[in-house]
Amino acid sequence: MKLAARVAQVTPSLTLVIDAKAKAMKRDGIDVLSFSVGEPDFDTPSHIRAAAAAALEEGKTRYGPAAGEPKLRQAIAQKLQRDNNLPYEAANIVVTNGGKHSLYNIMMALIEPGDEVIIPAPYWVSYPEMVKLAEGTPVIINTTLEAGFRMTPEQLQQAITPKTKLVILNSPSNPTGMVYTPDEIRAIAKVIVEHDLWVVSDEIYEKILYDDAQHLSIGAVSPASFERTIISSGFAKTYAMTGWRIGFVAAPLPLIKAIETIQSHSTSNVCTFAQYGAIAAYENSQDCVTEMVRAFAERRQIMLDALNTIPGFICPAPTGAFYLFPNISKLGVNSLNFCDGLLETQQVAAVPGIAFGADDCIRLSYATNVENIKAGMDRLANYVRSITS
Ligand SMILES: *Cc1c(COP(=O)(O)O)cnc(C)c1O
Repeated sequence: MKLAARVAQVTPSLTLVIDAKAKAMKRDGIDVLSFSVGEPDFDTPSHIRAAAAAALEEGKTRYGPAAGEPKLRQAIAQKLQRDNNLPYEAANIVVTNGGKHSLYNIMMALIEPGDEVIIPAPYWVSYPEMVKLAEGTPVIINTTLEAGFRMTPEQLQQAITPKTKLVILNSPSNPTGMVYTPDEIRAIAKVIVEHDLWVVSDEIYEKILYDDAQHLSIGAVSPASFERTIISSGFAKTYAMTGWRIGFVAAPLPLIKAIETIQSHSTSNVCTFAQYGAIAAYENSQDCVTEMVRAFAERRQIMLDALNTIPGFICPAPTGAFYLFPNISKLGVNSLNFCDGLLETQQVAAVPGIAFGADDCIRLSYATNVENIKAGMDRLANYVRSITS
């Protein structure tokens, strides 16, 4: 069968591949400890589930507007004004089938063949693949552990060419957990404004912060940066709603209109009653978020302490999201072989850094219980002993 050329250029999501392998082993009765998947282990808070269930019972079961329920678009705009200092109206919002879908829509609406898209590495697996599907060219800027996995304004400046269309930012970051400081965001915004670029700011982890980390949306830096900012976010990570598939784009009207058109010919509206759950998530107390973040903070510390006793691992403390991204280059093995061996011999699932453009690291999610974390880090230590002795 002759498939379209665009398919040949993209690779399947390695995180989903590893997760599928770990799940298959579990089904076979093997005691797998999984740190590979990027989703909270909590159930969706009950008031959110109740709101969706009530909507379902009330008959919110029909097609709705492709751009989303007006009430949800309004709630999202209000949240962006209140929490992020971004002056969006409901008309600037499209509700999408998850943050992944919002990013995909953005690429489809903005990128033309040959357009360059700047992506700092380590990056979320899907960014370069989405850019390629839209026939753009990903331009990767490598950042290092020593630099805290931060792209500097100078690095950004140097990567810009006449073909540069947009820059993708993700703070807090998946996979590194890095969070740009407000000053760093301001410095990056300056370069973006000077070169009149677009910036896609993936803020899906904005509420998952530790220590004294602060989230500043690049769109809130100045009116000029607001005009050039496209926000992609969603409910999955903050409210433990990964399976609900609800995200959103916030952007200037012409882009929103284009995305609405694309969506009207592809997915149409997001599941109607699910959107009522999302409304409840924003309109009620945020205590559930505080509680989940507190649990993540405790687990982060336990995993960090354990990892830093393993010889050969270098792991700085991240200040956001729920991942550790230790460097394993001292162990003399690439990330894929390391993770394969770890799964085969110790039944521990981790994601090879190569999936994120960093072959000397692995990603461990601590969105799992403390008992699993302790047992998993023991097994990891055993594995490292076995390959280094
Ligand atoms: C999880 C994630 C998303 C999107 O998740 P959805 O489940 O599609 O809402 C987007 N960006 C990053 C960096 C993520 O980790």
